Amino acid sequence: MDTVVPENEIVEVIKENGGDSFKYCYQCGLCDAVCPWNRVRDFSMRKIIRQATFGLTEIDQEEMWRCTTCKTCVDRCPRGVDQITAGVALRKLGAEYDVYPGNVAPVQNVVASLTSEGNSIGGERDKRADWAKGLAVKPYAEGMEILYFTGCYLSYDPRMREVATATAAILNKAGVDFGILGSKESCCGESIRKTGNEDLFKRLAKENIKTFIDHGVKKVLVSSPHCYHTFKNEYPEFMVNFEVVFISEYIVELINSGRLSLKGDYPKKVTYHDPCYLGRHNGIYDAPREILRQIPALELSEMADSRENSLCCGGGGGHIWMETPKEDRFSDLRVKQAVAVGAEVLVTSCPYCITNFTDSSLDLDESEALEIKDLTEIIQTLL
Ligand code: SF4
Ligand code: SF4
Repeated sequence: MDTVVPENEIVEVIKENGGDSFKYCYQCGLCDAVCPWNRVRDFSMRKIIRQATFGLTEIDQEEMWRCTTCKTCVDRCPRGVDQITAGVALRKLGAEYDVYPGNVAPVQNVVASLTSEGNSIGGERDKRADWAKGLAVKPYAEGMEILYFTGCYLSYDPRMREVATATAAILNKAGVDFGILGSKESCCGESIRKTGNEDLFKRLAKENIKTFIDHGVKKVLVSSPHCYHTFKNEYPEFMVNFEVVFISEYIVELINSGRLSLKGDYPKKVTYHDPCYLGRHNGIYDAPREILRQIPALELSEMADSRENSLCCGGGGGHIWMETPKEDRFSDLRVKQAVAVGAEVLVTSCPYCITNFTDSSLDLDESEALEIKDLTEIIQTLL
């Protein structure tokens, strides 16, 4: 494919979209040294920045789509370059010209599903609340204590629905007056924004904001770090004001206020994975560990690359929807790190991480058997 974008347009698009800091890059290469891609193949964010500086980006190359927006390089760049914003600005050209090369092609189906049904995984809008059938979960009504914004994966994906069920069980046990929006909920839009589709992000965000306002929502509980990130840091662009709380922080609050007490024990070796959008992007490292440390008989070990240095699962930046060849999967490396510290359970708090780690764990030897769990699923066994 020969996709030619005028050089000055590339430079202007990056500038206009907040990626102007790319001009400060002095090509030290530190971003490449810390990037998880270079554990599985050659990849150079430094080169992408260099090409963009001169307007030489080729938007039909998969390289432009490789960044998972894990934020490792952003936190380390000595010149304050925001590689994610610059990279997403380039993808806006791809989205504008409808160019989704090679393994990126599935994003087109996601765009169609988000546009017609408001979710990223091909479900029907009318079935968004089906996960809650038979459970004590009410539709959200004004005046309730909290809105549980379930998110696409927890609403539709069979594995992730178990996490939504565990969350509802915890909330009910603690006597929380909560509800869901069901078919009135739309995808939060975080990941599609990272593929450069700003128009679709805005449309989804505005739909959710209107629904929140119509229902008098003041406080929103989320299970996905991606929903958390966009509600907390991106929805304020629309001058909206509501409180957002992540499930692990909320559980700490429920335990500390005496509303939730845990019974029994969990006699297993556990390790915790920090999702990029919970840890590096939002600084939540302690709440999940605080909960795990309170559980009797649970033995918590830290993997290599934990907390600020956490190894990305490979699902951010829209990659959860793209094809990732086996040899390119960071999640394969991460499950090996969990096995290396003797863990029987790899626990985390993100639907993308759970999806990728579950896939990777299927390839482990029998002697390395590893369960992949959301934090709420462990709490559920202690209610
Ligand atoms: S770390 Fe920063 S200054 Fe160094 S090459 Fe990467 S973007 Fe440029
Ligand atoms: S944000 Fe992460 S994946 Fe993207 S270039 Fe930086 S280190 Fe690599």
